[in-house]
Amino acid sequence: MEFEIPRHVNLVAQRVRQFVDNEVIPVESELLRTGALLTNDMLQELRSKAKAANLWAPTMPKAWGGMGLNIQEIVPVFEAAGRSLLGPLAIHCAAPDEGNMHLLHNWANEEQIERYLAPLAKGETFSAFSMTEPPPGAGSDPRMIKTRADKDVDDWVINGHKWLNSNGEIADFFIIMAVTNSDVHPYQGCTQFLAPRDTPGINILRDVPVMGSKDFGGHVEIRFDNLRLPESAILGGEGQGFMLAQSRLGPARLTHCMRWTGIAQRALEIATAYAAEREAFGGALTTHQAVQWMLADSEMELKMGRLLIHEAAWRLAQGEQARVETSIAKVQVAETVDRVLDRCVQICGGRGISRDLPLSTWYEKARAFRIYDGASEVHRMVVARDVIKRYGAAVG
Ligand SMILES: Cc1cc2nc3c(=O)[nH]c(=O)nc-3n(C[C@H](O)[C@H](O)[C@H](O)COP(=O)(O)OP(=O)(O)OC[C@H]3O[C@@H](n4cnc5c(N)ncnc54)[C@H](O)[C@@H]3O)c2cc1C
Repeated sequence: MEFEIPRHVNLVAQRVRQFVDNEVIPVESELLRTGALLTNDMLQELRSKAKAANLWAPTMPKAWGGMGLNIQEIVPVFEAAGRSLLGPLAIHCAAPDEGNMHLLHNWANEEQIERYLAPLAKGETFSAFSMTEPPPGAGSDPRMIKTRADKDVDDWVINGHKWLNSNGEIADFFIIMAVTNSDVHPYQGCTQFLAPRDTPGINILRDVPVMGSKDFGGHVEIRFDNLRLPESAILGGEGQGFMLAQSRLGPARLTHCMRWTGIAQRALEIATAYAAEREAFGGALTTHQAVQWMLADSEMELKMGRLLIHEAAWRLAQGEQARVETSIAKVQVAETVDRVLDRCVQICGGRGISRDLPLSTWYEKARAFRIYDGASEVHRMVVARDVIKRYGAAVG
């Protein structure tokens, strides 16, 4: 395995870090201080600065104004951006747009590229990925999908109920997963459709309030009521919905891990600086072994997480699906970030709980990391299946 990051990519990561420190963190601090939410105007100002600094859309081709970095090269760049929750939004590598750009880049035809991907890559539009349904529909088990698309002469008519669709409040278009053939297994019977937001039949019911402060773009609940789309709205091919979903979700899980490592690393730096400065019981907190161990455990677990990310990224770069490796990384990193943030809040005491530091906001946001894009239990199931397949026969 080859994990070495080329020098020019490390320089890009350094520049992203400086950009986040100088431009993004002051905005983050102001929002924390006032309790205000990020507005689109504030985001567009950050994005203009990112574009001017040539730090835009790391995964998109240079011809479209992006940086043209591959899955291995983005590891340090996404971590640098992820040092603030606003960083990935600013340089255009935040979920769900980043995963949607990846999906469209691989599967959209020329007309769809021009209509959907080109403006999205430039940051002129936002997108949403519409897969999860409230019970009894598709959640952890996506095969339980209930949303249907039925053929009506030349069109497809979609009916269904989705929720927790990130960016749904601002998305200019939705990528919708629906059953197109219920006579076959969902893996062969589902299709993805591209639907502009203003198409009649897209009914946004509400933004679902979630733990912590409201996220930019929200996570909407939505009904598709006789949403009529032409054949040309199909992304990829009819019946390829799950194949496309897997091609999107595998790398997207890993890019989540890359960004999450950024806040955990910054949290460790904040907590260490506090512990070095703050005195209790005759010395700095850093002189107490219980604090030292929290710092050491956090550093060790973050290093392990990074190595798992690098391994999975390397496998994806070799053209492997890396299903098991992305699941291992997703579980380990999501749980590591939770633990690191918990320890860092503890080390910083009352200040950790206050909004003077970003730790408490991250702590709230990190709880969902173990649920979205596959709950930890589901990823453990994927890993366990592989273990049993490989070693089960040897038992007894
Ligand atoms: C902030 C946020 C953003 C999201 N954004 C999007 C989005 O943009 N688009 C989209 O389509 N979806 C999105 N989702 C939905 C997300 O992907 C789902 O919540 C997730 O896949 C779990 O599905 P569920 O909520 O229906 O949980 P359920 O399927 O109801 O599962 C509940 C719990 O059951 C347990 N469980 C499930 N299966 C097993 C098993 N095999 N073994 C043991 N335990 C198990 C797990 O602990 C799981 O958390 C988002 C969710 C959140 C919280």
